[in-house]
Amino acid sequence: MKHHYLLPDISQAGRMGCSLPHLDVPSSELPPEEMLRRELELPEVSEVDLVRYFTALSKLNYGVDTGFYPLGSCTMKYNPRWHEDVARLPGFTALHPYQSEDSVQGALQLMCRLQEYLTEITGMNGTSLVPVAGAHGEAAGLLMVKAYHQARGDKARKKILLTDSSHGTNPASAAMCGFETGVVASDAKGDLDLKSLASLMDEEVAALTLTMPSTLGLFDPKIAEIAELVHERGGLLGGDGANLNALLGRAKFGELGFDYVQLNLHKTFSTPHGGGGPGSGPVCAKEDLVDFLPAPLVTQDNGRYRFISPPKSIGKIASFYGNFGVMVKAYAYVRSLGPDELRQISEDAVLNANYLREKLKPHYFLPYDRICMHEVVFSGKRQKAKGVATVDIAKRLLDYGLHPPTVYFPLTVSEALMTEPTETESKETLDNYIAAMEEIARDAVEKPEILHNAPHNTPVRRLDEAKAFRQLDLRWEIKEQKK
Ligand SMILES: *Cc1c(COP(=O)(O)O)cnc(C)c1O
Repeated sequence: MKHHYLLPDISQAGRMGCSLPHLDVPSSELPPEEMLRRELELPEVSEVDLVRYFTALSKLNYGVDTGFYPLGSCTMKYNPRWHEDVARLPGFTALHPYQSEDSVQGALQLMCRLQEYLTEITGMNGTSLVPVAGAHGEAAGLLMVKAYHQARGDKARKKILLTDSSHGTNPASAAMCGFETGVVASDAKGDLDLKSLASLMDEEVAALTLTMPSTLGLFDPKIAEIAELVHERGGLLGGDGANLNALLGRAKFGELGFDYVQLNLHKTFSTPHGGGGPGSGPVCAKEDLVDFLPAPLVTQDNGRYRFISPPKSIGKIASFYGNFGVMVKAYAYVRSLGPDELRQISEDAVLNANYLREKLKPHYFLPYDRICMHEVVFSGKRQKAKGVATVDIAKRLLDYGLHPPTVYFPLTVSEALMTEPTETESKETLDNYIAAMEEIARDAVEKPEILHNAPHNTPVRRLDEAKAFRQLDLRWEIKEQKK
């Protein structure tokens, strides 16, 4: 099939998409000759050509508005449209960051309340909304850890411990903040190995950062012991709370023994994401760390809201106040749901993941066979033994019009298929996915070539993904035009 929308060969000399009105003002001089271009190589198309071109392009896109998107660790849930309407209210969008505090009291009130909600939801003592991504929130937490130890005169602590299933941003953030890293092993159940932690947790360790639930989608029941061990040896316990979708109203990081945690508002709290932003990664801290939170925070006294800097703040880490639009959506989300429905979200997210786990268990190897949280990690190793790689399974899902799960991550699971259905998907959608995965498992045995060559009905087949990502080709170029 020929895809005209991929080759903009629809230009015809002299064709126009608009007609300009007659000039009813005096014409003015053109700029000097050397500033003029003789040829402007733009496609010449009619309005309907143009509309069809862009509409066809838009249909090549896949998003949560087009279908199921079970990308593990990403929480690709559906975000209600009206949160966008709220964030777009002119009273919010027309604000200027240099306006006086007195003229933006409503916005400050919203930020102050959101700080309080997130503090409550995480069981912490204070929250800074400034970080603009999850990784940015991680870095903020680590800078707070550094400042905390320095303030106590404890200069030896230059190492951050991570787990072997950590999200890639965890070691990257530690390195960005000037720490060395050490990796704690997992045990056979997929939890943190306490012996490994005990052997690594020395006076050089500033903090252990732990994703909770882990990137295997598991809740570590030994969390209290882990926190105790880290604290006993003078370290801090940092949480990666990007996947809070499993814990809302069920467990609080503060009560589990964490000293700080970063959240991803663009995962759990209703901001669509992908493509790099805008996001928001608030960092929430217990009493020992609140004074170090990044500035500014919003506070209220005598009914007036104002910005403050915590006494030992790590300072400013972003321009102005963070991504305000994302905060508005998170506020709308929390207020529209309330405590009971927030809790229901996590119950449904966990239920959906466990439904997939039970239904797909007969067809795919399940390395950690226990109740999971918001996501379930399968392994394609049975299929791999038959010559069908996990990438073949992922590509074949595209033929069903489904987005594949996260593959080959976490690294501790070979041929990993990390699947996060989220709470916004119906049983029918999950059943449709299960049926596709079952059929793929059957085909892997009976007609593997259909998997090796997948996808079959997408506009492009298998790409060099690294190259496609690094050399994104998004611009119309004249050289492709048929003369
Ligand atoms: C998504 C995610 C991050 C990174 O968040 P960004 O906003 O992409 O920087 C960090 N940790 C975990 C566990 C995540 O799932």
